[in-house]
Amino acid sequence: MMIDERRVRQIKGAIGEGSGEEKMREEETGSKVAVEKGSGVVVYWMRRDQRVDENWAFIHALQKALAYKVPLVVYFQIIQNYQYPYHRHFDFMLPGLEEVERRCHTLGVGTHITIGNGVADLIRFLQEVGASLLVTDHTPLRGPSSQITKLQDQVNIPIHVVDAHNVIPVWETSDKQEYSARTIRGKIYKLLDQFLVKFPEVDQLVARSKPPSFQTRFNKIDVEEIKSKLDLKPPAPVSWLTPGYEAGMSKLEDFITVKLANYAEKRNDPNEDSLSDLSPYLHFGQISAQEVVSQVLAIGNSGSEAFIEEILIRRELSENYCFYNENYDKFAGLPEWGKRTLEKHSMDTREHLYTLDELERGVTHDALWNSAQSQMIHTGKMHGYMRMYWAKKILEWTKTPQEAHRIAVYLNDKYELDGRDPNGYTGVAWAIGGLHDRPWVERQIFGNIRYMNYNGAKRKFDVDDYISRNSYNSK
Ligand code: FAD
Repeated sequence: MMIDERRVRQIKGAIGEGSGEEKMREEETGSKVAVEKGSGVVVYWMRRDQRVDENWAFIHALQKALAYKVPLVVYFQIIQNYQYPYHRHFDFMLPGLEEVERRCHTLGVGTHITIGNGVADLIRFLQEVGASLLVTDHTPLRGPSSQITKLQDQVNIPIHVVDAHNVIPVWETSDKQEYSARTIRGKIYKLLDQFLVKFPEVDQLVARSKPPSFQTRFNKIDVEEIKSKLDLKPPAPVSWLTPGYEAGMSKLEDFITVKLANYAEKRNDPNEDSLSDLSPYLHFGQISAQEVVSQVLAIGNSGSEAFIEEILIRRELSENYCFYNENYDKFAGLPEWGKRTLEKHSMDTREHLYTLDELERGVTHDALWNSAQSQMIHTGKMHGYMRMYWAKKILEWTKTPQEAHRIAVYLNDKYELDGRDPNGYTGVAWAIGGLHDRPWVERQIFGNIRYMNYNGAKRKFDVDDYISRNSYNSK
């Protein structure tokens, strides 16, 4: 089975079968990679989808390599001076890449996992291996998107960008930024049957017609050596969650077997262990959201509907926001009504005012908020319900809504294992700026943005229990 071509964005060259026969310009022009299409290696530049199985980008690259009868190599570049040099995130990502490497080698697929300085190093690699086609996975975020723009000006081999993260490719679901879950839901369900198809098994694809393998497997990833070269900063790694595809799939199995049935009823109680804990695996692409959706729909119990609303509708709505709104992580990206109402109330008196440092250390007057902050700092995963409360209080206790937005994004990206993700930027924009929400009764500071308070939380769950479980500083 070939992959649905609507999942592939062709930046250069043709996608369909037979494209291997077309000749690219053979003369070398400046720094451009000039190769004969179909005659060299296929390179899968892995970025957001860090897995081999249930990965449409890997499958597409493999199918092309098999069709052209050329080797496939997976290239992954760890950026040397990455904007988020946090030990916690690298500690989760690197073992996942080790697993990718092992899995590739069992399939006869080469790997090159390396530290580099961006597109120039990738181009050097493409030249070195004589690449004929570059496949990569799609991400809507600024940095990775600009890499593609830079690359396309400098190479003349085809580049295929595959949406391997969403069940329905983000550009197919809608051609514009959606207003809310209500407006995107119907669009998603209309296309779901077409895209929620069974993944081909990569072992079977390889067994049918093995790609020529590399003589050498390139370098072997050494996690400790990589970490030592990166000058990583706190926050420290966490040990409660095992990274990687295998661990992620067994988390999914546990969730489906033990927790899914009670998900609808218990998911808003932060004292219950009722959430899936899949977000770090999904963020690093160590497991596929499509596979999760398929398995949960196949169970179809009382929790499935509520869970699908989150992992499918809300998650793909976040992707839609970041894909169509270039200011997704800035105050400027908020809906017009949200910005207007917040600006109208930006001079309102704040009873409590905290600096970034005070918030980061979790030393506000509100023990519930401090515990949520502490849960994030120490475990790398704040409960979903508390994330809403947490962000809204930052709005209430900082000088301006712009500052509140900046601080919430900064802390979320730094401490959450699943941070630096479209879901995070959307979550902050929802809580602080009314994105995908409607105007509520007007009040101080918040204007028409939905309000949450301590007493509301108290009515929903045992606040004291949550505080005692998450007061790591006093433990
Ligand atoms: P489960 O409840 O088990 O949900 C399963 C999956 O559904 C999640 O992994 C996620 O992919 C998706 N999902 C659940 N809730 C949402 C939601 N509200 N919006 C979009 N997708 C959702 N999510 C992140 O992945 N990264 C973040 O950095 C992040 N930051 C957030 C910040 C704020 C202020 C808010 C309000 C929400 C944020 N979320 C973020 C969304 C949500 O809180 C988390 O996805 C969820 O808590 C992750 O835990 P889980 O996988 O156990 O969730």
